[in-house]
Amino acid sequence: MRLTRYFLPVLKENPSEASIVSHRYMLRAGMIKQSSAGIYSWLPLGFKVLKNIENIVHEEQIRAGHIPMLMPTIQPADLWRESGRYEDYGEEMLRIKDRHGHDMLFGPTNEEMITDIFRAHVGSYKDLPLTLYHIQWKFRDERRPRFGVMRGREFYMKDGYNFDLSKEDALHAYNRHLVSYLRTYERMGLQAIPMRADSGPIGGDDTHEFLVLADTGESEVFYDSAITDLKFGDREIDYDSVEQCQNVLEEFTSRYARTDETHDEAAFANVPEERRRSARGIEVGQIFYFGTKYSESMGATVINDKQEQIPVHMGSHGIGVSRLVGAIIEASHDDKGIIWPEGVTPFHCGIVNLKQGDAEADAACEALYSALESHGLEPLYDDRNERAGGKFATMDLIGLPWRITVGPRGLKNGVVELTSRRTGESQEMAPDAAVARVA
Ligand code: ATP
Ligand code: MG
Ligand code: MG
Ligand code: MG
Repeated sequence: MRLTRYFLPVLKENPSEASIVSHRYMLRAGMIKQSSAGIYSWLPLGFKVLKNIENIVHEEQIRAGHIPMLMPTIQPADLWRESGRYEDYGEEMLRIKDRHGHDMLFGPTNEEMITDIFRAHVGSYKDLPLTLYHIQWKFRDERRPRFGVMRGREFYMKDGYNFDLSKEDALHAYNRHLVSYLRTYERMGLQAIPMRADSGPIGGDDTHEFLVLADTGESEVFYDSAITDLKFGDREIDYDSVEQCQNVLEEFTSRYARTDETHDEAAFANVPEERRRSARGIEVGQIFYFGTKYSESMGATVINDKQEQIPVHMGSHGIGVSRLVGAIIEASHDDKGIIWPEGVTPFHCGIVNLKQGDAEADAACEALYSALESHGLEPLYDDRNERAGGKFATMDLIGLPWRITVGPRGLKNGVVELTSRRTGESQEMAPDAAVARVA
């Protein structure tokens, strides 16, 4: 992409409405624009990051054997009357009447709708296990939308639902989700720690939240610092193996790590004092096993191998896709701007031309552009007629992992300058060598 043809409405001033760094940088980098409280347009740069995150979520869900689909945003109230949650959900639910007077709502989550789909089409244990998921906009009329996309009213969420014959099978699905989530967050350059949590309006006993440690997080958390040494990494996992998934769950949840809702001072006291931590965290996902809560109230049953009709065991599993854009910035930035992890960056490499209009510099930039593209990379070429300082400031703000700076003086010696956004280190080298480093 060439900057002269792109839409990147960068702000010079710090927007006064933004109180945390991710919100400030998302506005300044022209990633989002608020249209009303907690509701945002995703401008091209923000949209690219959102899609990159969404793609990672899809890839990891599909790898775990979960099946993508899409349900609507608008739901009929009657489904929620069946489960009893229409009244319970309270003011966070946006209730709508259509022209015929039917009660509708903008979905805050999809347990009822997926259970309705399941009961319409599945009747036998032979069709289990089954895990369906979608990535769709949700609406919750949050009392205090704030921090930009981190607590929006309209937000993008992955929600998955497992249907199993027994509690044992459903707990395997739970463990499978835990593993796939660990992989998902690590691919985004994040450490998200599973912590024992409270189930809230979803209901159920078994639940973990995934938290990214950050001072600006809204959750209070307590943990054994040893847990921050754990990494899933690139180990192989067979998602069908009950034992392998169970082992990962045990490895990642045996240390003390809880949110304030389930925090237990007596249990925490067993952690060696020098490893006891209390901190703030951002909730970027949650997994639940809730048994037959919805299948019983809504009649989602199957026939088992003894010809008995039994309610299925279920769980639901969410990832805050749009919140993650903010959470990644909270975890990865400096005083000049964002520092995108490679896995989610909107462009792989910036090209800065120090002397736009100089025939040699222009040609060298064009050649770099094609060379990066031929490696399957997406460059962002700042081809504006601007001073170098302004170009550098924009590149630092939008946080691409690499910048290649091209100027007539370097070209006389056959070199360009390659700069790492994360370390700030610059090195002169031949254009080919710079491309090879980035690729
Ligand atoms: P919170 O405690 O932050 O209100 P939640 O526990 O109500 O979140 P869940 O029902 O567990 O949210 O939804 C799954 C995920 O969706 C959350 O882990 C979070 O990452 C994301 N999410 C929830 N509410 C919002 C929101 N208002 N804006 C952006 N993302 C959200
Ligand atoms: Mg909430
Ligand atoms: Mg929560
Ligand atoms: Mg939650």
